[in-house]
Amino acid sequence: MTGFPSDLKHHRSFKKCSELWFEDGSIILEADNGTLFRVYGGHLTRCSSVLNEMLAEAEQSHDLFEGIPLVPMDDSAADLRCFLKALFDLKFYTKRGPEMELEDIISVLRLSTKYNTEVLRTQTLSILSTVFPSRLDVFVTTNEHKWRSRLTPRKLFTLANLAKEADATALLPSILYLCCRRDLVKILDGVETPSGSRAVLDGEIMRRIIIGRRALESLARTWTYSYLYDHNVPFEHQCEDSSRCRQFIHTKAKSIDSYPDVFLDPLAPPSLYQNFDGRVCRSCLRWMEGVVKVSLEHVWTCLPVVFGFPEWGSLVRVSE
Ligand SMILES: [Zn+2]
Repeated sequence: MTGFPSDLKHHRSFKKCSELWFEDGSIILEADNGTLFRVYGGHLTRCSSVLNEMLAEAEQSHDLFEGIPLVPMDDSAADLRCFLKALFDLKFYTKRGPEMELEDIISVLRLSTKYNTEVLRTQTLSILSTVFPSRLDVFVTTNEHKWRSRLTPRKLFTLANLAKEADATALLPSILYLCCRRDLVKILDGVETPSGSRAVLDGEIMRRIIIGRRALESLARTWTYSYLYDHNVPFEHQCEDSSRCRQFIHTKAKSIDSYPDVFLDPLAPPSLYQNFDGRVCRSCLRWMEGVVKVSLEHVWTCLPVVFGFPEWGSLVRVSE
């Protein structure tokens, strides 16, 4: 460093990001791969105390690009692009829908936490809470949500780690529940990413998942699937054909137990209509439906505690 402004235009290979290149922008941020974003420094410093300090330091460093102060960042171009889009494009979140990818929102969460842009972070957490909600009815109605249905283990594990890192605890019970549904080997060993590295769960998160997974299977047996396993429970309802119904229930329980490696999911019981209708009497079918309905509510209520968190009410209060 000479102490004189040095224009780096000819020194390194840069690539301008055209959608975030404002000709009257006052500062240029450089991602870790040389992608450049020319934006308004005043807006950044107002949104973030962390960036305020970084930009003040950058002014002393004399690094310039085309005469504009340049700030090298250690963030990826993908993260920075989404973060800056969310800060400078008012339509970024209002346009959300099929075209928005979960990775984009994860990027915004990552950097809005890192740079302490509180308003943007709160807005991002609120959007994520519609995908990973605290209420069962919301979870069920958004079951086919595009973001959730497209979640690969890699994205899910990244999100679980990030939610912990970002202190977004209210999102974690439903995220960890979705992790539990994944193959145990993947939970333990992680999964390969397109770049050849591995997406591995954070140690504490993995511990919560392993312990929670066992607790959920126990809840499946004692609640959601209790009509299959608790053979001593008298048929208090008016069973129309006790020996046939009991025989079918016994066979069904044995068939589930013949797949010990499959996670017994207390929140995704088999469809009673598809699997039981016609094989047990109507009275038993209604009884099982009642058991499942009550069980889903109970298991969902237990979900945070199963993973070692406080109950839903305090998790949501803390996140508000
Ligand atoms: Zn019956």
